[in-house]
Amino acid sequence: MDAIHSGGCACGAVRYQVRGEPELVQVCHCNFCQRRLASAFAVIAVFAHDAVDILQGQLTEREYRSDESGRWLRMSFCPQCGTTIAHTAQIRPGCRSIAAGTFDDPDWLKIDRHIWVRSKRPWVTIPEGVAVFQQGFVASPTGT
Ligand SMILES: [Zn+2]
Ligand SMILES: [Zn+2]
Repeated sequence: MDAIHSGGCACGAVRYQVRGEPELVQVCHCNFCQRRLASAFAVIAVFAHDAVDILQGQLTEREYRSDESGRWLRMSFCPQCGTTIAHTAQIRPGCRSIAAGTFDDPDWLKIDRHIWVRSKRPWVTIPEGVAVFQQGFVASPTGT
């Protein structure tokens, strides 16, 4: 049976669970992630859409479009407290990405790669042995 990990927003209105391992975990240092999370980078755990269950609460969605690629990104957040829980991206059909800071145990994930490192904060040091990309990264034409 798949391992289950759960999480939720800051106010507790939204709760979710994921089943199994993520397809990918990446740290994104792009300017958009820095601003949307009011932080230095985003930790993004990508799951198959079906592996994510919203157990409680409603998510509000807002769509953005990348200046650079023109592709859309839909952020899902708690309308009560504003915590970003997840997003879906045009580039990853069939997947749902969880904002990894919302897991009850954020330490269960292993980081696969750092992307958009060209705009990372100068005081962020990336550990040895992890893949680093100056810009985005698409492994295959399907974007998975
Ligand atoms: Zn909330
Ligand atoms: Zn980003």
